[in-house]
Amino acid sequence: MICAISPPWGFPLDKEDLVFDRRHLWHPYTSMTEPLPVYPVASAGGVHIRLADGRELVDGMSSWWAAIHGYNHPVLNQAITDQTARMAHVMFGGLTHEPAVELGRLLVALTPEPLTRVFFSDSGSVAVEVALKMALQYQHALGRPEKYRLLTIQGGYHGDTFHAMSVCDPITGMHHIFRHALPHQLFAPKPRCGFNDDWDEEDIDELARLMAEHRNELAAVIVEPIVQGAGGMRFYHPEYLRRLRSLCDQHDLLLIFDEIATGFGRSGKLFAAEHAGVAPDIMCLGKALTGGYLTLAATLATDRVADIISAGKPGVFMHGPTFMANPLACSVAVASIKLLLASPWQELLQAMEKQLRRELAPAAMLPQVRDVRVLGGIGVIEMREEVDVGTLQRFFVEQGVWIRPFANLIYIMPPYIIKADDLRRLTAAMVAAAAQ
Ligand SMILES: *Cc1c(COP(=O)(O)O)cnc(C)c1O
Repeated sequence: MICAISPPWGFPLDKEDLVFDRRHLWHPYTSMTEPLPVYPVASAGGVHIRLADGRELVDGMSSWWAAIHGYNHPVLNQAITDQTARMAHVMFGGLTHEPAVELGRLLVALTPEPLTRVFFSDSGSVAVEVALKMALQYQHALGRPEKYRLLTIQGGYHGDTFHAMSVCDPITGMHHIFRHALPHQLFAPKPRCGFNDDWDEEDIDELARLMAEHRNELAAVIVEPIVQGAGGMRFYHPEYLRRLRSLCDQHDLLLIFDEIATGFGRSGKLFAAEHAGVAPDIMCLGKALTGGYLTLAATLATDRVADIISAGKPGVFMHGPTFMANPLACSVAVASIKLLLASPWQELLQAMEKQLRRELAPAAMLPQVRDVRVLGGIGVIEMREEVDVGTLQRFFVEQGVWIRPFANLIYIMPPYIIKADDLRRLTAAMVAAAAQ
């Protein structure tokens, strides 16, 4: 099923192109005067990224959690081709179409039961903005406009737009730069109990205290369930989410789960909330939603949230992106979800988890390593010191793997279809990098 990279490789970028890139194109979190080198890619197929110079890298990143089926997948390619022949896009105001309806049906069926209303948007950060606006409009509709603040936990990541940024970890999220422009939210400490630790009742105390103290100004609590991703790659205890759910009920606050990184199987469950068996009032999806093909996100809400917003003034939810429910993106999302459900994804992720545990374990012996942890298809080596991203990046490319570390974290979340020998190349490179 999985396409090998087929010729032609595409036209390699020449030196001049790279000079243009360096001078004119901003890359993520990158200086415009001293950018780290970028590696030109000619094509990608399965779990392999082929560089312009012909070198082939095993992909450990799934292009930031997204390409769960690997690259250049014939079924996903076909879905886009077929939809392109019908229409690439029409506005969603006053019109609808089959890809949106079919995707909506799938999402309502697959996500935790109370989530029934779907809002499509362009990217994860926007899906978070939409979720937060829903929470604020919900409180407004109930005649409680003073309840507009948000509570979250440190070590989180929810995106790069303003309200999303306001609930990112205050340190790694660089709140000081935007101090005067950012809304001030409330932060409980990071959960201390890891996923496999014994539950310690005290872990939730500070959050419970903050919630009780500020309940009259709070609209909602937002967290990434179980896996804190870009804020530190930490896995916390499912009991934390169960306590959080009951605290939100007790204080009449909405609970928002940001499953943009964890959704669609990555943590070993279809959605990370399933580890705890709890449902949020609002849930954000993105990243793997389209199998890494196009940018699309969704915010799901309960009947209650949607009905209360619609009963208030102005009686409508105040958001509507130009490319809402883009048909190309929706059609490839439908194809990607069907492909996932038709695959033995649980077994693939169990096998990946087992192999990651076995092959990363030796790194835990190294004095410069603080922690090694694995959950589902996520493997993390946490170093004691920050790594030099440029140096490590070069080392990984020389080893024939694509792994992009940040801060003190060397981590991977490969496409689910990766074979044992390719995964072994990734883990060997990670352990070797940690040992340097
Ligand atoms: C990546 C991510 C986002 C932001 O998504 P974008 O598509 O990059 O805007 C939000 N929340 C979580 C948990 C993420 O991992």
